[in-house]
Amino acid sequence: MAGSKSYKIATIGSHSALQILKGAQQEGFSTIAICLKGRENVYRQFKVADKIMTIGSYKEIMDIQDSLIKEHAILVPHASLIEYVGLNNVEKFKVPYYGNKNILRFESDRDIEREWLANAGLKLPKIFNNPKDIDRAVIVKFHGAKGGKGYFLAKNEKDFKEKMKSHMTANNEQEKYVIQEYIVGVPMFIHYFYSPLTEELELMGFDKRYESNVDSLGRVSARDQIALPKIDPSYVIVGNIPIVVRESFLPLIMEMGENVIKESKKITKGGLWGPFCLETIMTPEQEIFTFEISARIVAGTNPYINGSPYTWLKYDEPMSTGRRIARDIKQAITAGQLSRVLG
Ligand code: ATP
Repeated sequence: MAGSKSYKIATIGSHSALQILKGAQQEGFSTIAICLKGRENVYRQFKVADKIMTIGSYKEIMDIQDSLIKEHAILVPHASLIEYVGLNNVEKFKVPYYGNKNILRFESDRDIEREWLANAGLKLPKIFNNPKDIDRAVIVKFHGAKGGKGYFLAKNEKDFKEKMKSHMTANNEQEKYVIQEYIVGVPMFIHYFYSPLTEELELMGFDKRYESNVDSLGRVSARDQIALPKIDPSYVIVGNIPIVVRESFLPLIMEMGENVIKESKKITKGGLWGPFCLETIMTPEQEIFTFEISARIVAGTNPYINGSPYTWLKYDEPMSTGRRIARDIKQAITAGQLSRVLG
């Protein structure tokens, strides 16, 4: 096995790559940014990439595996990898990979994901399997809808049926959807980190998303919304806003994270490790509903390249999630246990 100094941290140049690569350099690693042609400049300009490998499309990452292995690269995944390279390809990927690949299936299927979170004791929005049962505000989500495109709110079966009419596929089939209780509250994305080496759950920070157009609808009065051509809400993310949460929520937030980790160990060997995020809505009754989990670094950690208030309390030095990943890898290498953090 190569010595610790010779390992390099590689990631795809997008999403949270600036922070992952910067964090890796801070921990003493050389870095590789794998960039689409034309996107290299950002990584060069911010000096986070010691090497840039250029590809014509994200799927071409499969063709440069041997070069990455020769470089002793360890790949740190983020959402762009899974989304653009595809789950099946990622599972087959030969390059050492930070995190547990086995967990990816559990978060990519809404039903299995729900079972995991429910068994972890989290409060989840109710699912309506039959539109007849809709007795409150619901959000109708379409599978694979990018940026929540086409999601709509409905208040009863009649309303649902009316709005579904515009959701038939080209072959006149119903698009796949789920009817979920609409939780009125504020969205809150909770960033955690769990190291299999220390077996400790760390709270890294919080964010809320800045989503277009839903975050701009409040700027158009109800009168104008009615007068203007139909505006459908969409949830296309354009940025992330940092949040510090009310301190009395922290014990529950930590307990939720602990239970998710505990449950993950029951459903797959090794369970979940590394960064993950619970996507929640907090209600005026101070309940926290989780509507999704991301089992990897989320872009909501990007405001904290220099650390968050929570990581400052723990580390007394700048500690981004990207840097925390690199430290986990470094500690594993030093302990001769690199395989414990690779999936
Ligand atoms: P993905 O990460 O898969 O792209 P997402 O994280 O954007 O999806 P979705 O489940 O597609 O999450 O929801 C999009 C947005 O809709 C969320 O960011 C949130 O603002 C809102 N939302 C989702 N579910 C609910 C719910 N049950 N009640 C209220 N608002 C919701």
